[in-house]
Amino acid sequence: MNRLEGKVALITGGALGIGAACARRMIEAGARVAIADVLDEPGQALARELGEHACYLHADVSVEDDVRHAVAGTVAHFGRLDVLVNNAGISGTNKPTHELTEAEWDHVQAINVKGVFFGTKHAIAPMRLAGGGSIINLSSIYGLIGAPDIPPYHASKGAVRLMAKTDALLYAADRIRVNSIHPGFIWTPMVEYHLSTLGGDAAANRQGVASLHPLGHLGEPDDIAWGVVYLASDEAKFITGSELVIDGGYSCR
Ligand code: NAD
Repeated sequence: MNRLEGKVALITGGALGIGAACARRMIEAGARVAIADVLDEPGQALARELGEHACYLHADVSVEDDVRHAVAGTVAHFGRLDVLVNNAGISGTNKPTHELTEAEWDHVQAINVKGVFFGTKHAIAPMRLAGGGSIINLSSIYGLIGAPDIPPYHASKGAVRLMAKTDALLYAADRIRVNSIHPGFIWTPMVEYHLSTLGGDAAANRQGVASLHPLGHLGEPDDIAWGVVYLASDEAKFITGSELVIDGGYSCR
């Protein structure tokens, strides 16, 4: 209870999936939360459901001005910024490397990598004013190990992992901690879409992916949200530059 009392968080891509679960669990833990997304209807509906401790801001993370305004809007609404969850991301085109176009490659990097850069860049000043903060980058098991699919996504999640370490070093003296989280397959609209690109029977595809996790099933958005609550809290005050793997054992092999 109240592990995040007094803290203000901005969650990018907070309208659906893992980001929405983070908003719910962080508010339960006492935080005030700004949800930024490009999907205005579900984002606004979630903010209404969560009440006065939530607000919704439209922001495309690949557009620097949008991110600047989302950070400024969070501070204007709640008075400070303590936590940034760089969560917005897409899986992108699922083709082998030799078939990908430059535009397909760039689209994934613009959201998954540049979006994290913009978020961190604009969060530093208000976090310094707050006396410190916690930045949490959503990487993936695909940022730790390979798989024979979605090459631009793997590249983007590897980048985000290293960005957390560099920024951890750059801002440690400001008491700003930066960590990455590495989920296995979590049942969200992103994974539903990704499995639909494989063709064939949807239930069989889901079972096939579930069986890659030694625990025998896919994760739920809350499995990741609890990790985010922990890294955002002062209980994680000695953790920076680390990789929190939440993957049902997927990457143990
Ligand atoms: P999702 O597709 O279910 O939700 C992503 C959210 O991000 C959506 O609300 C979407 O509108 C938003 N978004 C997309 N592009 C945006 C943009 N340009 N600007 C702002 N918002 C944007 O995805 P998810 O499964 O909840 O994934 C969340 C994060 O976790 C992503 O970074 C993803 O790569 C990572 N992740 C997910 C899984 C998984 O299995 N679901 C595994 C590893 C990592």
